[in-house]
Amino acid sequence: MSTVQPRRSSRRRTATTKASFKLINDAHSTEDEEPGLDNGDGDGDGATQQRGAKRQKTKGSYAKTTVTKKLAGSRKRGRLSALPEMPLDILFEILKYLDPLDLLRMARTTKDLRSVLMNRSALSVWKSARANIPFLLDCPEGVSEPAFANFMFTTNCHVCLSPRAAYSFAARCVRYCKNCIDRKVIWKPYSNLDLSSALPGGRAASFKLMYTYEVNRPNTPIAGVWLQQDYDDLLKEYQEFPESATKAEDFLELKKSTANNIGEREYEYRDWMEQQEALRAMQRYAARDERRDAILDRLTTAGFGEDIRGMATWELQQFRNHHMVKQPRLLSDRIWKNIEPTMVALMLMFRNQRRQRERAKIIARRRELFARMVNLYERECPLGEVVPSAADFYFLDSATTVRQIIEESPDEEEITLEHFAQYKNQLPQICSEWKTSMIPQLLSVIQRATGEEVDESVLHLAKTIFACRLCDESIFYPEILAHACLQEPPLFDPVDVSRRSTLIDLETAPWNENHALTYRPRRVDSASEVIRGCGLKPDTAKTEDLDAKEFWAMSLTADLGDVEVMDWRRAVRVSHIHPDDQWCQLSKPESMRCFGDVELMFYLNSITIVACVHCRALLLSRDLIDHMSDHKVGPVERSDFFVHRDNPTICTFSTSISVDQCGAKELL
Ligand SMILES: [Zn+2]
Ligand SMILES: [Zn+2]
Ligand SMILES: [Zn+2]
Repeated sequence: MSTVQPRRSSRRRTATTKASFKLINDAHSTEDEEPGLDNGDGDGDGATQQRGAKRQKTKGSYAKTTVTKKLAGSRKRGRLSALPEMPLDILFEILKYLDPLDLLRMARTTKDLRSVLMNRSALSVWKSARANIPFLLDCPEGVSEPAFANFMFTTNCHVCLSPRAAYSFAARCVRYCKNCIDRKVIWKPYSNLDLSSALPGGRAASFKLMYTYEVNRPNTPIAGVWLQQDYDDLLKEYQEFPESATKAEDFLELKKSTANNIGEREYEYRDWMEQQEALRAMQRYAARDERRDAILDRLTTAGFGEDIRGMATWELQQFRNHHMVKQPRLLSDRIWKNIEPTMVALMLMFRNQRRQRERAKIIARRRELFARMVNLYERECPLGEVVPSAADFYFLDSATTVRQIIEESPDEEEITLEHFAQYKNQLPQICSEWKTSMIPQLLSVIQRATGEEVDESVLHLAKTIFACRLCDESIFYPEILAHACLQEPPLFDPVDVSRRSTLIDLETAPWNENHALTYRPRRVDSASEVIRGCGLKPDTAKTEDLDAKEFWAMSLTADLGDVEVMDWRRAVRVSHIHPDDQWCQLSKPESMRCFGDVELMFYLNSITIVACVHCRALLLSRDLIDHMSDHKVGPVERSDFFVHRDNPTICTFSTSISVDQCGAKELL
């Protein structure tokens, strides 16, 4: 490998002489032709001295005058062709502000410029160009400055010149494409005994002498390769090494660090490339941001300021990702002229969407007001009254006028509760009609589950409990018509988008639109056991019959001498959880009284949600004493508050008393 240092030469006015070409060759000590520089023929990296000499002749035969004459005809290159005419010191003074890539491009424009830049006298220009790139690696020994620049700043294959060659070898400053790499590397070098035995020291020393590059091809494991050029040079150097008895050892000693140095160079290069990639990415982002801001400025000037400020997050995203916006190219007047119609159309679309959103907000507020009106009505009803949800009312024909007020009044019209006053007066009538209209639905749920024809009377039986798929509670009729879970909007969007947004505004859905209602015959069977335990016939006993009786005992802890005591509704609702329990009616009025106190104490110490019967406020049961003192009521009694039957927390109440106390012993 030649390591000739470039010789200093005095500045020359004429760029193209045989002598200058010779100097270029000196500068290109590895290669006379730096790869990719000339878009002409092939094997840039592997050119031999002979070939270099041939090229030299060819180039040298160009006379300066011929070239300039030829180029003078070309308008495009007219100005550039004057550059080599300039005094060299002035030209170099200008060129030293360029980057290596600029110099490479310049060298490719005309033969004259090429001659100037490939001249050894231009070495300082290349060096200062290199210094213009912060943190750039040094030019490796034995590689010319242009060859180094070509390797670092272009991506062509050094054999076939195809762009974006994937495999780089930094210590040699060569790069190959996937088609050419096969001819340039030795695959599986360590498994080839002929190769390693040809090296001084044989196979063992080959690890020290040859650097193994990693080649990462798609869909193939990473391969370790030797560069053919490394191998050939090493063999040649060894042949030229002075003969002696200890030739192999001496050579090895001399070359020991070769592979290490190459490895370090590779590492530095990868590191540099990663940094550059990160830098380029940052620059791209910055350029994109700049373009986007410039477009926004133009649109603001065009009167879209309000629309820009009112863009929704997803619209902003859509705008940023628009192919005309998301480009790292700065916005020029010409570009703006091209993209303006599309951008304006986009903004008009956003404006339209924004107005629709604003309209939807106004309607949403009116619907919320409607829901509030329904809520106020419910609070005026007797405690525990079944009142449908706002969504149930909203979609009924009777609400047509109200819907028109909400959905069709102009934006600026303030809608208040007053607008719904007339409608509110009709609610008792609408409620009762609605309840009747729901009965066929309830019956069909029972029929589907049991396969039996049933009529309305079955709903009033004490054993008839429905189940909720969402909370798994058992619920009686008519409370099932107001069960909160059944008023939840369905999880999956109904196809109708406007209906969906109505449900969101009202925060409820029409009853059982989410299909959470179900009927489980096994629960009815265990409920029947409770009723039988009370001495009644499940097929005829109605809820009102059982409400007349007060408490029931459960034999859960009978072996400890205690029984679990609870109200019959709770017993029916939980009976399916312990289907083997025996149920009986409490017989002693004393135990009921005792139980009554226990129940009151339970509420006063728990956090069940209850309603005050005096002011209808909802509160936590443990706050009852404080609350009642405001009403000047005391001591608190069970009749001072109301626990909704649909409130699942009511099920938390039960208590254990001794079998003797409840008088149920003889029944167990
Ligand atoms: Zn190639
Ligand atoms: Zn539920
Ligand atoms: Zn109150």
